[in-house]
Amino acid sequence: MPADAPTSAELRNLDKKHLWHPFTQMQDWCAPDHDPLVITSGKGVWLTDSEGRRYIDGNSSIWTNIHGHGHPAIDAAIRQQLDEIAHCSGLGFTNPTAILLAQKLVQLFPPDTLSRVFFSDDGSTAIECACKMAIQYRQLDDHPERSHFIAFDQAYHGDTAGAASLGGIDTLHHRFSSFGFDTTHVASLEQLKQVPAEQLHQTTAVIIEPLIQGAAGMKLWPSGMLSDLAQWCKAHDIFLILDEVMTGFGRTGSMFACQQEDVTPDFIALAKGLTGGYLPLAATLTSEAIFEKFLGSAEDQKTFYYGHSYNANPLGCAAALANLQIFESEQTLHHLQEKITLLKELLAEHLADLPNIQAIRQCGFIAAIDLAPDGRSGAEICLAVREHGLLTRPINNTIVLMPPLCISPDELKTAVLALHKALIQNS
Ligand SMILES: *Cc1c(COP(=O)(O)O)cnc(C)c1O
Repeated sequence: MPADAPTSAELRNLDKKHLWHPFTQMQDWCAPDHDPLVITSGKGVWLTDSEGRRYIDGNSSIWTNIHGHGHPAIDAAIRQQLDEIAHCSGLGFTNPTAILLAQKLVQLFPPDTLSRVFFSDDGSTAIECACKMAIQYRQLDDHPERSHFIAFDQAYHGDTAGAASLGGIDTLHHRFSSFGFDTTHVASLEQLKQVPAEQLHQTTAVIIEPLIQGAAGMKLWPSGMLSDLAQWCKAHDIFLILDEVMTGFGRTGSMFACQQEDVTPDFIALAKGLTGGYLPLAATLTSEAIFEKFLGSAEDQKTFYYGHSYNANPLGCAAALANLQIFESEQTLHHLQEKITLLKELLAEHLADLPNIQAIRQCGFIAAIDLAPDGRSGAEICLAVREHGLLTRPINNTIVLMPPLCISPDELKTAVLALHKALIQNS
């Protein structure tokens, strides 16, 4: 930092003066007794704040980071790309990193399944893209009435208007739910099967977060549900859109959650972990059959008119390519299996029996710890655990522990013990 750099107190004041933080009651944030953490650097699973204190990144910087902060291979890939060009347009031109990344992504799925990649900027836009494709496909297929979606209660698919209308979390979504796509919500596969046929005839797609609903509080779907759902969709000629924005890139123990039930969807949305948690980039993958529906002469008006300024951004694509290469060079998924077992053991040994814990769930490398309703809140526990060197965010009264996949066994133990200490301390 240069000598005239603002002090951390000055930064906090400026933040309170000018920033508006996401999902945050700014009156609390700006209160005189609130000292926002200013994160200034990161290395591996460790984050450092402006006071020089270090913390384990317990929720992978809101579910994005995969191989750690400052990973030499991703850093180098971005620097190398920067020496060439930071950004050029994917509209009217193409670029080598985007081409190679698209090929790599396609190769992660069974041959001849998801063969087309559409890039956008974040999870929400990847979902919007899938939804618009699903609507336009039906129009091109002479079924314009099939414009509705079915989503699940407690679902979270992002915050842009269309994505938010698919959401099923009242506090987050009720204000804007009427401004986006026509969406029916169901609680379960059983309820989906009760939807009347007339309504199914108006439906283009079902959308789901496979295996686990993230923002709902890390709620697990029953085992086998996803493959049953995929079969049901096929039988009813309804598209299946998988939102793997949170579950993708190893988080559930396999590269993608859908692989655990041998499901290949019609659309898959990828974002958060795509660049290893470095840069905003997203991808929507779909099949050649769906893609071909959009082909025709310009006069046919079949073109998919959708896209964002930073489509196929070369820096993001370079980070994503490096991210995928690390999965191979470091055998990330292989080493992850032992850590998943270790996490399970650590949770059982150090947390499961504490009186203020109601339940613990785990899906791959995602752990959710429900607090007893009569004790301290999730926010209070997360504040307390900071003092023990762990940063994470609760979802209501559920503590989420999902560190970067690269965390070492010792660091994982440190993280769980930090939670233990915060949970046993009085007040
Ligand atoms: C985070 C998330 C999104 C939205 O992604 P953004 O990058 O925040 O727009 C969509 N779906 C799921 C399952 C998510 O976890």
